[in-house]
Amino acid sequence: MVLERSDVSSVNDLLIASCLPEFFALVPSEEAAIDLILQTQIEQRKLVCRCGHVFEKATRAAYERRVKCAECRRHSHFTVGTLYERVTQVRARLGAVWLMDHGAVVTSTKLNQIFGIATSTGLCIINSIGLFIESFRQTSFDEASEGLSCPIFCEIMIKRSRITGAYEHAASVPEEVTVTDVEPDLSNDFSQSFSEPESSDMSDDLGDLDRAVLAQISATPISVDTICESLDSTAGPVGASLTMLELLGHIVSGPGNSFVRLRAAKVKSSSSTDFSPQALAFAEAAIDNIKAIRQGVSRKYLQLYLGAFWCCFDRNIWREGMLMLVSVDATLTPDRNLFDYESPLIVSVAI
Ligand SMILES: [Zn+2]
Repeated sequence: MVLERSDVSSVNDLLIASCLPEFFALVPSEEAAIDLILQTQIEQRKLVCRCGHVFEKATRAAYERRVKCAECRRHSHFTVGTLYERVTQVRARLGAVWLMDHGAVVTSTKLNQIFGIATSTGLCIINSIGLFIESFRQTSFDEASEGLSCPIFCEIMIKRSRITGAYEHAASVPEEVTVTDVEPDLSNDFSQSFSEPESSDMSDDLGDLDRAVLAQISATPISVDTICESLDSTAGPVGASLTMLELLGHIVSGPGNSFVRLRAAKVKSSSSTDFSPQALAFAEAAIDNIKAIRQGVSRKYLQLYLGAFWCCFDRNIWREGMLMLVSVDATLTPDRNLFDYESPLIVSVAI
């Protein structure tokens, strides 16, 4: 059964609405959220003191996030290293995890509606969950992952570029956009756009500045500064153009903020035939889902969004409660600084 975009979105809304009453009953307050985290860690025998003692029961004082070891009497701070370390909106985080655990796709707008938190807080929550999922994939599923080049997802990122004009600089484009920010979707048919992504019609997506920037780039590396000087333009718009050209597979970035032209043949080599049917099925579903529910994604967070979509896509791995376990697992602590995170040109998906 093929779902229309509006159906994908309303099925997701219905799923969220059906999961929430149980969550609200189980976790009526911030304190209940912290209790549930502690209880889950103890049940999973994941709460271990530095002395080696595995907690089999523990009581905490109100508002405390630490428990005392029965052996050595020292305190263990049980949220350290988990998704819930040093945050105030524990319940909203747990709610997002709960919804994703039930197969829903969660957006910052949705978290704002449900928990009354700022959209920026919601975004931070979603990205943090994405980092934990990525960490889990790298530690447990790295060998079962496949690389997909970013241009495969240009359809959902092009939409971002179409709205860039209104925000002047690519970096100031909000992470989530509403339908009204985006021009009507002209290339809705995934299979069509997928089979002919590198044909000449792709350059039709380029604006005047994109073409001018592209004309400056050859097989010899050229720096951003040189391009700016040649075009008598500033780094902002040139940078936005370079990002799009890179996404579309026209150029690649090299050391020292330099760029070289990609030969057409090389772009062709990353066409859909190089990927397994499972990876393609995943990509197709992710694109459909992002189009229906998020409208668009920046390259910066593409890897995190794909990770989060894995929870929704692969319900065999991500059975109910799995993400909750990942979120309280202090051994997964993602080592990347969230704000430095940048999706690679080749993103990985678990298949
Ligand atoms: Zn101890």
